[in-house]
Amino acid sequence: MKAVVKTRPEPGNVELIDVPEPQAGPGHVVIEVHNAGVCGTDIHIYKSEYVIKPPVILGHELCGTIVEVGPGVTRCAVGDRVTVNPSAGQLCGNCRYCRIGAPFFCIDRSAVGSGMNGGFAKYCRVRQEIVFRLPENLDFETGALCEPFACALQAVVELTLIEPGEIVVVSGPGPIGIMCAMLAKSRGARVVLLGTSGDADRMAVAKRLGADNVVNVETDDPRRAIQDLTQGYGPDVVFECSGAPASAELCLDIVRKMGRYTQVGLFGKPLQMDLDKVVVKQIHLQGSMCHTWQTWERTLRFLEQDLVDLRPLITNRLPLSRWEEAFEGVIARKELKVLLHPEE
Ligand SMILES: [Zn+2]
Ligand SMILES: [Zn+2]
Repeated sequence: MKAVVKTRPEPGNVELIDVPEPQAGPGHVVIEVHNAGVCGTDIHIYKSEYVIKPPVILGHELCGTIVEVGPGVTRCAVGDRVTVNPSAGQLCGNCRYCRIGAPFFCIDRSAVGSGMNGGFAKYCRVRQEIVFRLPENLDFETGALCEPFACALQAVVELTLIEPGEIVVVSGPGPIGIMCAMLAKSRGARVVLLGTSGDADRMAVAKRLGADNVVNVETDDPRRAIQDLTQGYGPDVVFECSGAPASAELCLDIVRKMGRYTQVGLFGKPLQMDLDKVVVKQIHLQGSMCHTWQTWERTLRFLEQDLVDLRPLITNRLPLSRWEEAFEGVIARKELKVLLHPEE
């Protein structure tokens, strides 16, 4: 089968090549992939900013149909429509983090699409424990968005207190930022989204999906705009989702005294920040990364309720052979979410 593979550790070295089709084996299933989303992490792997052991098939935001189950599989069956929690591809099962249900922090872990073969291929083999059946009303496109949505859900719903009627600023209108905005909205908040001139198309999508206000930080004075929207106090909560140092500085600046700041974007390098602000404004500052098993249960039950439509976040659908075009669109921030699908 054709697969998009990171073939060597050096930057670039991603190719569409022929690889053997996987076989289920004990405790494992083979999924016929329908869609797999291109994520910022894939770009980091492409640029070798995220260390993995090649060769490995990329793609961790996948969904499809189970076509083969190995001996001992009881959790799912052939024909099931499923998605997977890629962060728990392989776990030690014994460390403190495994035992509290936080697989992302397992001390001996491999993730689908980086530490082991992922979903940019016709078939993907995973262990049964990481498979989640899609609710019947979820289509295969939304199915591929479950993983990023779980990331946003942990940040907004599980880790950050948001009271109804509060004002929430989300900085960075990428897919995760917009999902955070949608979830904050579902908590009864008023949501202000910050972006740059290059984000115009993404801001329009965000507005359509429920952001109450959008502010272009390059053409509007964001401090003034936020002051006007918050009677001079600043937002109750900020989510920094861009990973841009200037955005982090702005977020720390505008969040109100005794407010909450959750860092979701990754900067990829150390940065200078005035942490005195955390002290003197008594800010609750925290990070959110990935998701737990509980987040996955919640994510699927939440999406089953049909409260949000994630499909407008999909701005392109391409066959695997055009993976390069997909990656370029994401790098150039032209696209929100691009889904890759195997050739017919
Ligand atoms: Zn991802
Ligand atoms: Zn572990």
